[in-house]
Amino acid sequence: MSEAVISMENVSFSYENKKVLDHIHFSVPQGSFMGLVGPNGGGKTTLIKLILGLQKADSGNIRLFSQPIERFNDWNKLGYVSQKANAFNKGFPATVYEVVSMGLTAKIGYLRFFQKKHKEKILEAIAQVGMEAYTHENIGNLSGGQQQRIFIARSLVSDPELLILDEPTVGVDNENVQRFYELLDHLNRNRGITMLMVTHDTGTIAEQATEIACLNKTLHFHGKPEAYKSLTNEEWSHIYGHNIHLVTHDH
Ligand code: ADP
Repeated sequence: MSEAVISMENVSFSYENKKVLDHIHFSVPQGSFMGLVGPNGGGKTTLIKLILGLQKADSGNIRLFSQPIERFNDWNKLGYVSQKANAFNKGFPATVYEVVSMGLTAKIGYLRFFQKKHKEKILEAIAQVGMEAYTHENIGNLSGGQQQRIFIARSLVSDPELLILDEPTVGVDNENVQRFYELLDHLNRNRGITMLMVTHDTGTIAEQATEIACLNKTLHFHGKPEAYKSLTNEEWSHIYGHNIHLVTHDH
């Protein structure tokens, strides 16, 4: 059994009086590709915020790389890529190279000059996502799918061991979604980067992930894609159905 890079024991969390996560037991084994699905408002983003230390659990324990999160300070081990909604607009005055270099500032500090090894690292990360031809292109001129590749590159410069992706394929067209999955698959298998990906794409994720978790306030399912694919309609409606009003909940 491989070690868990993330483990949660009995974790609960509320926004004011509203319970969003209820006694969650969850773990992400090292080297796995975990797909996290569930209805809108089911608590997926909140779970990610707890893992990133942006929110604190009301109760329970969270460990990152076997360290209690309260004592964890090796944040370079985590890369995070959010929805395309946070992407750069046309005209944003930065090149692909500059955007990827931002991934290193956490490591070497702002306003320090990059050394040769840093420049090499930046170019290597851009090459890893197959975007060499765009190195000096303005980021705003790239398509949504291309920008997402650049955000992955920005995470890769600090050699993360875990990549957390929150609906990274929203707004990316079908053909590029497939290529994007191929990239994630490559990073997972060949670079050994553990993946935790939040997605609404309940079909494709079953083909890509090595494990799936379904969250709707509680963890309704956590297992292999084969078991996930054989969930019955009744089980599906249990996960999605009786809280369906949450789907339209605006947040
Ligand atoms: P998901 O990512 O699965 O769509 P979220 O974690 O974003 O779910 O949201 C879970 C619930 O918490 C939703 O009902 C949402 O409205 C609520 N929520 C999210 N963020 C906040 C916040 N900052 N303050 C209060 N309620 C929030």
